[in-house]
Amino acid sequence: MFYCTSCKRIVKDGGVCEFCSNVDLRELKLDAPVNVLGTKLKGRVLKITDDKVRLLIRDDANNKFIKEYSYKELKKVL
Ligand SMILES: [Zn+2]
Repeated sequence: MFYCTSCKRIVKDGGVCEFCSNVDLRELKLDAPVNVLGTKLKGRVLKITDDKVRLLIRDDANNKFIKEYSYKELKKVL
């Protein structure tokens, strides 16, 4: 998977961003910080499989938990 340097969305395939058509995409690496769209949740990438990204999330109360999201629900934190 990749992230878009313009809209910061996560995209599955390299080449062109499926959300804003930017062509400057970078590889999404393990341990990269991401944000869950529409929430204040932030996590780090633990595992990437097909359309899903498993995150280690730390909430406001500093609890840690693991949850899987579709890549479409995520945004890269720069
Ligand atoms: Zn984009």
